Amino acid sequence: MAQRVAGSDGGSKKTSRVRVAVRLRPYMCGQDDPSEQPCVRGLDSQNLEIINWRNAMETVKYHFDVFHGEQTTQQEVFLTSVKPILPHILNGQNASVFAYGPTGAGKTHTMLGTGEQPGVIPRAVREVFNLVRAKDKAQDDGWNYSVGMSYMEIYNEKVLDLLSPNSPDLPIREDKDKNILIPGLTHTTLSSFSDFEKLFVPATLNRTTASTKLNQRSSRSHAILLIKVVRTQRSLPHRQQTGKLYLVDLAGSEDNRRTGNQGIRLKESGAINLSLFTLSKVVDALNSGTAVRVPYRDSKLTRLLQDSLGGSAHSVMITNIAPEYKYYFDTFSALNFAAKSKLIVNKPFTRETVAVPVLPVKRSREEHEAAGSGTEPNKKKQKDEKKPEQDGSSHSTNYNSLTELSVMERLIALEKRMMSCQDRDGQSVLQDVAESRREIQELKEKQMEFERKALLLSQLAKEKSSSTEEPVFDNTSAPLQRKRPNVTKLVKQQAVVQPLQGQGTLPDGKENPKGVAMGFQLDESVLDQSKEKILHILNTGCLKDLKGLQQIGDKKAKLILGWREINGPFIKLEDLMNIEGMSEKRFSSFVKVG
Ligand code: ADP
Ligand code: MG
Repeated sequence: MAQRVAGSDGGSKKTSRVRVAVRLRPYMCGQDDPSEQPCVRGLDSQNLEIINWRNAMETVKYHFDVFHGEQTTQQEVFLTSVKPILPHILNGQNASVFAYGPTGAGKTHTMLGTGEQPGVIPRAVREVFNLVRAKDKAQDDGWNYSVGMSYMEIYNEKVLDLLSPNSPDLPIREDKDKNILIPGLTHTTLSSFSDFEKLFVPATLNRTTASTKLNQRSSRSHAILLIKVVRTQRSLPHRQQTGKLYLVDLAGSEDNRRTGNQGIRLKESGAINLSLFTLSKVVDALNSGTAVRVPYRDSKLTRLLQDSLGGSAHSVMITNIAPEYKYYFDTFSALNFAAKSKLIVNKPFTRETVAVPVLPVKRSREEHEAAGSGTEPNKKKQKDEKKPEQDGSSHSTNYNSLTELSVMERLIALEKRMMSCQDRDGQSVLQDVAESRREIQELKEKQMEFERKALLLSQLAKEKSSSTEEPVFDNTSAPLQRKRPNVTKLVKQQAVVQPLQGQGTLPDGKENPKGVAMGFQLDESVLDQSKEKILHILNTGCLKDLKGLQQIGDKKAKLILGWREINGPFIKLEDLMNIEGMSEKRFSSFVKVG
C-alpha cells in the first residue's frame, strides 16, 4: 500500500510530526448550576489537568505541544499554532490545520469565529494574501503566484462539493507524483480576500442552515477548506509548484450513544467514526516516530489529506475541550486521543469538586435500561480514603450509583485501551477467540445430534402413522421461546425441524426423553456464554481478533474499532446494528452463526 512519501518539491522521506495544541474554551454553564466547578484546568502553556474519574482526589495531567487556556484570544491561537506554517504554502509545500473535539467545545469558533472574533480560517486566508503580496513586491523573487480555493464536506464517507451544491459523491485520486486530486471538485481562483469571502460565506451559511433541518448534520460532517497557492517561474523553464493548505472543522467527537442519537444518526456516526478513528491512527502513526504503516487509505478524510498530513507537510491539530462536567467523558476521550503522555497526580485541584465526578451526562433510555435502574445519579460525596489502583472491576465501587455503571464501564474500558493498547496481551484475546469458537462448534455439534435424533423420531413416527393416518407430531404445546439456532443445510432440506417446536412431546404422546430437552437447555446456556465471549471480543479484540468473528471482514472490523473508540464498549450484541452496513438481517445471521 502506498505511503506518504516526499512531497512534490522532491524533499526527503522524512515524516513530520503533527503538532498538537489543546484549546480550553471558557466555562459556559455557570447560570445553570453555580455550585458546579470546571473539571479541567490549564497549568501552563503546555500542560493541563483533569479530575481523575477513578479517584476524585487525583488529577490526570497531560502534556501537549501547546495549551491555549480559556483567556486565549483568537489572535493568539492563530499566531502560535497556524501563522508559522503558512509561508511553506508559498514554497510548494502542503499543510493542514484541524479542529478536533466534541460538539460545543469550540471547533467552529476556533476555525471560523465570529465577525468580531474571526477564527483561524479568515486569518489564515488573509495572511496567505499578505504573503503573496509581499512576494509580488519583492524584487528578487522570480515567481508569479496565484491563489485558489475549494470547499468540501465529508458526510457519511461521501465527498461533497460545497461550492457546487447537489454535486455527487466525488472520487479521490492520486497522480504519479503522489499528489491527491479530486476530479470534478470546483476550484476557483481568488484575487483578494473579498473574493474568498464572497464564495465562502454563503457556502458556509448554506451548510449550517441545511444542518439545522437535517439533524445537525454539520456536527457529524467534516468541513474542509482547501487553499491552493500555485507559483510559476517567470523565466524559463517556467517551473510550477503547488502548495496546499487544508483547514478542517472536524465532525464532533462526542459519544453519539450517550447523547441519545438514534437510528440513522447512529449509522451516520459509524461513518464519522471511521474517518475520525482513522485520523487518530494516522496521527498516532506519524507521531510514533517509527516506520509503521500510516493507514491513510482507510477513510475518505485521511485519504484526502494524504499529501498534506505527515510526509513533508506541516500539520497542526487543535483539540477543543470544554470545562463543564457534562463534557467530562468527551473531554477525557478527546485528551486521550490527542495526548501521547499523561501522568496521574495525587492532588485534587479544587476541594469543592471532590464530589464524585458526576458525569451528569444525558443518558439514553437504552443506557438506563442497561444499567438496570431508573434512578438519578447519586451526587453523594466520595469518601476521602484513597483507593489503590486495581483492576477495572473494582473502580466502579468508587461510585455510588448503579445508574452510572455503563458510563463507568466504558470509562474503564477506554482508559484500559488508552493505557495499555501497546502491551495488551493479545494472546489472551486469541485464546478467548479460540475458546469461543470451540464452544460454538460444540453447540453446533449438539444441534446436529439433536436434529439427527429428531430425524430418527420423525421416521419412526412416519412408519407408525402410515397405518393410522394420525398427525405425525403433536404440535399443540407452546413453541420454544427462543429462535431456533441455525441448522445445517442437510437438516433444512429434510424439513423435519418444525416438530421439535412441539416441546417435550413425542409422537406417541409420551414425555420427551430428558436428554433431548436437556440438550436444548444446555444449548441455550452455551449460546449465552458464546454471546458473552463474542461481546468480550467486540470490546477488547484488536483488528485481527475481530476479523476472526464470522461475518466480520476488514471493513466491518475497522468500523467496529472506530465505533468502540468513540462510543465505548458494546453493551449488548445488538449495539452492532449501529455499525454501518450491519443490517438487521446480517446481524441476526451473525448472532446465529456466532
Ligand atoms: P463546536 O463547533 O465544537 O460544536 P462551537 O464553536 O459552536 O463548538 O462553540 C460552542 C459555543 O461556545 C458557541 O456559542 C461559541 O461561540 C462558544 N465558544 C467556543 N469557544 C469559545 C471561546 N474560546 N471563547 C468564547 N466562546 C466560545
Ligand atoms: Mg461546529
